[in-house]
Amino acid sequence: MATLGNRRNTAEIIDKYHFSFQKKFGQNFLVDSSILDKIIESAQVTKKDCVLEIGPGIGTMTQRLAEEAGEVIAVEIDKNLIPVLQETLSAYDNVTVINADILKLDLNQIVEERAGKPVKVVANLPYYITTPIIMALFERKVPLQSVTIMVQKEVADRMRVGPGTKEYGALSLAVQYYAKPEIITRVPASCFMPKPNVDSTVIKLTRYENAPVKAEDEAWLFAVIRASFNQRRKTLVNGLANAGSLGVDRKQVEDALAEMGLVATVRGETLTLEQFAELSNRLLQEHRNTI
Ligand code: SAM
Repeated sequence: MATLGNRRNTAEIIDKYHFSFQKKFGQNFLVDSSILDKIIESAQVTKKDCVLEIGPGIGTMTQRLAEEAGEVIAVEIDKNLIPVLQETLSAYDNVTVINADILKLDLNQIVEERAGKPVKVVANLPYYITTPIIMALFERKVPLQSVTIMVQKEVADRMRVGPGTKEYGALSLAVQYYAKPEIITRVPASCFMPKPNVDSTVIKLTRYENAPVKAEDEAWLFAVIRASFNQRRKTLVNGLANAGSLGVDRKQVEDALAEMGLVATVRGETLTLEQFAELSNRLLQEHRNTI
């Protein structure tokens, strides 16, 4: 089987299977071997690793991962790609292709059953569900070492920025709570077939063994963060007091902020992760006292 990752061989496979690209699945296949090299190198995959690939497409990256990793689990939603993958991956006995929606799979079970060891995620993600995939990987506590992914440039920027920037929000805080983000390379739209409307970035998220801040209840911390950014133009007090699910009132939020030396008109986008952790711990206390 000829290696993929270039325009000619990709077009040949597409023609052979009369494959039509599905926009709804975010299908833009990588056709640049130097970008592929950078992704594989930065993911630092070894024979000891199990790799989870989300959206293998026609198997471009999967072939390279199969050569480097002990085992590869590739989850592809589009059933029309399964026969293609059977051909392009026929030389490898360490790849399992699962035809499913990544968001509906019990990833913990799959990882446990097939690998039983920490996993490295490597993927050129479908952009329409980038954030839900990242949140699912972290929040469901899939045992991960690292996540090396191609995402839309703006999303990569949101993952790594700090307070006071317009890109800063719930995704930045979630990613930085769980992992250290590192930009690997920018990728122009011309490296894909078909060419998307946006540029991309490869970003590597290396999972922290211990979170950088102490949150008494992680789920509560993220509920506070989400409520803080739900209504971006409102003050933090309004955002949190209006979030019925938290069950805290204006006075409780104002008191918690005052105890932290913050004014009542402060906005969520100015708070650091440490401040969010402290605020959420204080509000949790208030919440527990009132129930
Ligand atoms: N890895 C290939 C490459 O680099 O050329 C394809 C990347 S393409 C951007 C995204 C892939 O994810 C497509 O193959 C698409 O069918 C698949 N996909 C989209 N939504 C998915 C989902 N919910 N679960 C699993 N795969 C999905």
